[in-house]
Amino acid sequence: MSHAIAHILNNDCPQCQKGKVFNEKSIFFTFGFPKMNEYCSHCHYKFEKEPGYFFGAMYVNYGLTVAQSIATYGIAQFFFQEKFDLRIIPIIAFVIIALASFNIRLSRLLWIYMFKNYSM
Ligand SMILES: [Zn+2]
Repeated sequence: MSHAIAHILNNDCPQCQKGKVFNEKSIFFTFGFPKMNEYCSHCHYKFEKEPGYFFGAMYVNYGLTVAQSIATYGIAQFFFQEKFDLRIIPIIAFVIIALASFNIRLSRLLWIYMFKNYSM
């Protein structure tokens, strides 16, 4: 499992772990809409199995965003006197916007890894 996480963060093909899913150097510091390879350059695994395949990844993305918001709140609250200071909200908003592009990539990678054919 820890293997899979390393490969996900490495943007590796779920099938052969040699090709790349996104046609980008890093999934961490890239902004704008992700450029995805259609097939793995190494094993020709098709990433988008059918049109709308990544629709479900939006739910993963939502889950990530909620988790990050809670984590941000958890960290930010230590810097404020009151338990729920309203100034935390813009901080959370900033973090979400900063991570949005990364989350699109991460959620799609997670989605591919969740539904890859493990028998192959
Ligand atoms: Zn591959």
